[in-house]
This record gives sequence, structure tokens and C-alpha cells, in this order.
Amino acid sequence: MEKPAFLSRICPVCSSKPPAQAAIQSEVTAESLDFDALVPCWNGFFKDKVFFSYVRCGGCGLLYAPTFFNGPQLEQLYGQMPPNMAEVPMKALRRTQHGYFEALKSCSDLDGGFIEVGPDIGLFTENCVREGRYNEYWLFEPNREVLPALSKIVEGHKYHVIHDMFGFSHVLDHAASAAVMIHVLDHLLDPVATLSELRQKLKPGARLLLVTHDESSLLRRLVGWRWPAFCLQHPQIYSPQSMRKLLEAAGFEVLERRKTVNFFEIGFLLKHLLWAFGIKAQSVPSFGRFTLGLKLGNMLTIATPKPGRHHV
Ligand SMILES: [Zn+2]
Repeated sequence: MEKPAFLSRICPVCSSKPPAQAAIQSEVTAESLDFDALVPCWNGFFKDKVFFSYVRCGGCGLLYAPTFFNGPQLEQLYGQMPPNMAEVPMKALRRTQHGYFEALKSCSDLDGGFIEVGPDIGLFTENCVREGRYNEYWLFEPNREVLPALSKIVEGHKYHVIHDMFGFSHVLDHAASAAVMIHVLDHLLDPVATLSELRQKLKPGARLLLVTHDESSLLRRLVGWRWPAFCLQHPQIYSPQSMRKLLEAAGFEVLERRKTVNFFEIGFLLKHLLWAFGIKAQSVPSFGRFTLGLKLGNMLTIATPKPGRHHV
């Protein structure tokens, strides 16, 4: 029996052909294994490191994998996944998301319609409900298990939870004044198409807030190919430069960019830092429940639809 083939990709931002030479590779590459062998590697950021080799696009500088899972394979893999970062305590997660929210608050009026793609249990959304005056919420969340928690947050407001990550047709054109995607764009096979569709739903002057990994960060340069964001879940990883090109291709203009702070308990950090360097420590001292904020190679980008006509 022939194995189902992986997807062959050209650059998802500028459509250039991939260079022959890989820029970042794991010791065992994902493209040398078959799909069944990759399923156990998929779930953990911190287990044995196997990922599809990344090339650097000669046209736009994007770091992307020219060989990757196809759509049905991704559907199967995401369908069996445990919740993201379940190991990080809620208090630390809330502090991280609140930091992202402060960035939206500093550049918008927090009113009108609000779109969020992948809100999970609503740790970002709850800030919007508490401090904002949004009159309608569209929350695109494929995980049905989080529905009770997510609905509770927007209770008493006009809201829609849509169980399709990208069913933007549920939203009227130009209905929203803010759209938020936290750790979503690194996962998409066709980020230009998704952002272009989303743009149609935004008012002139609306704010788009994105949180992604930054492959040009100091942390990534320190740990090399062992950087946790090089993994089977990311068909491409952006830098400030390639993020700008992506947004321009989708009809957006970048207004602001900053490094983000992630909060963790110290014991968690130490364990995963050791893992990143290939040391599999089963337990480390917990150092109590202290929480530490770190700039971990993530970036936050705020963009707005480019004025005037734009063809998709
Ligand atoms: Zn390119």
C-alpha cells in the first residue's frame, strides 16, 4: 500500500519556489518518516525533536517548511490533541493574556464588534468583556469541550461561538473593529488567504492583534534547532520582517510591534529549559509557586486594513 503523501509547498507569502538547501533541520527529519511514525511526535513540544525541515525563502525571507502535513492529516492530528500548555497554571496564563490585552487597549477604543480566532477558554476574551464596550462577539473555536467556559465569559452580551476556525462568512462585511489571533498564524497552511478573508470583516481603521513566535529572537539564536517553536505544528515561523510582508500581501499595514512577556512558574521553566538543551530531567525543585515573566521569543503585532481598494 502506498502511504499518503505529504504536501509540497511553495512560499505561502510570495509564491517563490523553495531553495534546495534547508536552513533549520532536526537530527531525524519528519520528511524522512511516514505519517504513522509522526503521530506520537505531534503532541509534545518537549519530547523527541522531529520536525519538517525549514527553508528560508529567497523572495521574502520567510522561514517555512516546503514539505508538510496535508489538510486531512492536520485534521486528524488536531482532532486527537490534549489542551495546549495545560501544565502552565491558570494564574500565569491569565497574566500573559492580560499583557496582550493591554496592547489592544492602548491602541483602540474597545467598542464595536469583536472577532477572536482560537479563543480556547477565553483568557483573552474575558479582558474584553471586563474592560471593553464591545456590542457583539464572534468567537471561532473548533474545540467543543471549551464551549461552556467560553459561553459563560460572554454571557449577557450578543455573541456567536462558531465551531469552525475560519467560518468568517458568519460575520457581515466590515462588522468588526477588532480581530485577535493568538498563536494561530504559525499553524496555518495558507495565512494570506485567511487574513484576506478576515480583512473583509473589518471596518476601516480596525485593529488586528497577532501573537506569534519570532524566529529572529535571541532565544531562538541561543538554542538553535532545539527552539521549541520548531515543531510539527508550525508550517512556517515569522520574524518581524516576514510578518510585515505577510500582512502587506493580505492588505494590512503594520502599526506596532513588540516583544511579549510570558509568565511561568519557575519550576516549569527550569524543567523545560533543561529539556530544550536535551537534558530529560524528570523532576526539578519547584521553588514554591513563584511566577516569573520572560520574553520568550514571541512577538505581538498590531495592524490595520490598508485604506483603499484591495483585491484578494
Ligand atoms: Zn517568500
